[in-house]
This record gives sequence, structure tokens and C-alpha cells, in this order.
Amino acid sequence: MKRYWFLPLIFLGLFLAIWMARDTLPQKPLQPRIVSPQAMDENMDLAGGPERKVRGFPKRKILDLTSMFPDLFIDSGPREEKLVALTFDDGPDDIFTPQFLDVLKEKNVKATFFIIGKRAEGFPEVMKRIYAESHFVGNHTWSHPNLVKLPLEKVKEEVLKTDRLLQSYSKGSDEDMKIFRSPYGSIDPERVKLIGKLGYKIIAWNVDSLDWKGLSAEEVKTNVLENVTNGSIILQHSAGGTGEDLSGSVKALPQIIDVLRKEGFKFVTITELLEEK
Ligand SMILES: [Zn+2]
Repeated sequence: MKRYWFLPLIFLGLFLAIWMARDTLPQKPLQPRIVSPQAMDENMDLAGGPERKVRGFPKRKILDLTSMFPDLFIDSGPREEKLVALTFDDGPDDIFTPQFLDVLKEKNVKATFFIIGKRAEGFPEVMKRIYAESHFVGNHTWSHPNLVKLPLEKVKEEVLKTDRLLQSYSKGSDEDMKIFRSPYGSIDPERVKLIGKLGYKIIAWNVDSLDWKGLSAEEVKTNVLENVTNGSIILQHSAGGTGEDLSGSVKALPQIIDVLRKEGFKFVTITELLEEK
């Protein structure tokens, strides 16, 4: 046996050699998690950057604005009835928005889409479908900039350019309530007043699915269901920044609808929710 004393040394040597060469061994290239939509090039991306980089504003600020501008800045509906509003930001696109529309159609639920003007221009067929299936459409700026970093004149341009496009879809019916949501929820009193003067109510939310983080269906479902109360406005996204994966959010939606219906909630659009106020 004494002759084989060197065997463990050979094994140790082999192990060290492989370990040291590990970086030079061929590796599987990293695959992106999703394929970007066909026409979703960088011109279609969010001007203020992806949600995951910009978000994280304090919730406290929303509450302050709600009490400063009770008729103009709204984050929830009436508490008396079991009504909830599903809202979907940042669409349209040609990957996730159609999937959300399929679920809503199957479940016979009307929702509210806060759309980005330049994306609406880029995906007119999806826009037509949103209107044809009787969802309500709100203004989410033209290019999704961070409004508090933008001069007032530019803020106005972002809102009005999208406004004109939406009018062309809704045939300019003045009776419709106009609703606006600020990108990243980022807004200040000066900009609330300005957008109010343009004829808009500013709609925030009080239930955040956090789906823009690319969460699983189970996580999205938990974030929503654990926080819903009467009059809740629920935030999901119907399109993301480049490479953002919303498939968990799509998968969670039918389950969220089923659970809330079972609990006696009725799904309404933002305008229906606020008419009750
Ligand atoms: Zn947004």
C-alpha cells in the first residue's frame, strides 16, 4: 500500500488544475429572459428609465397630495362598496398587452389602461382592441419621463401630445372624464395643478403589484390580495421597459379576479369607481 501514497496528491493536483482553468472553459451564454416585442425598439422605451431604476419614491408623498388636492389627486375610490379598479400602465405593446386583454375578455372584466402616447402610436391595432373591448384609457404622457425633472412647458407638451392622440381614438367625446397617471408616480404640487388645469384628474393607486420587478405569479397575487380593500385602485403594468418580464403578472391576473369575485368584489373602470364618489 505504501507505493500509492502519491495518489491523493495526483487527485488534488487534477482538481486544482480544473479549478484554475474554469474561466477558460466554454460557458453557456446568458440568455435574456424574454424576447423584446417586434417593434419595441429603443425609441419605444421609457424616457425616464426603467421602473426598477426610478421607482422607490416615498408613499407618504402620495398621501400628502391626496389631502392637498382631494378632488384632483386620487389614490382610491369610495370605501362603502366592494368595488375595485384594475389599472395597467405603460402599454400598449404587442406581447403583454394582448395577453392581459385576453384574460380580461375571458373573465368579462373592464379595466383602465394608462397608455404611453408614443407606444399607442406604434401599436395602433392593440389600441383599437383596448377601445373595442370597452376598457377605459388614461393618459400616461408621451414618452414616460420623470415629470418632476421636466420644465412645466415640457410637462404640458407630454400631456397634450398624448391627449390629441387619445382624442383621435375616442372621437373626442368631451363627456368622458379625463384621467392622467404620472410616470413612476413621480409628481409634485406644481405639476398636479398644471395637469389639473389641462382638464385631468390625476390617478395614483393604493395597491401596488410591484410586477415591474419581474415577480412570479404567486408574488404578484400576494402583493395584490393582501392589500385590497373597498375602493382599491390596483396597479399592474401591461408593458415594460426593454427586457422586463411581466409574464408573472399575466399569470396572476385570472387568479386575482377569481379570488376577489369570490369575496364579493366588483370590477369597475376608474371612471365608474369615481362616479360612485
Ligand atoms: Zn409608467
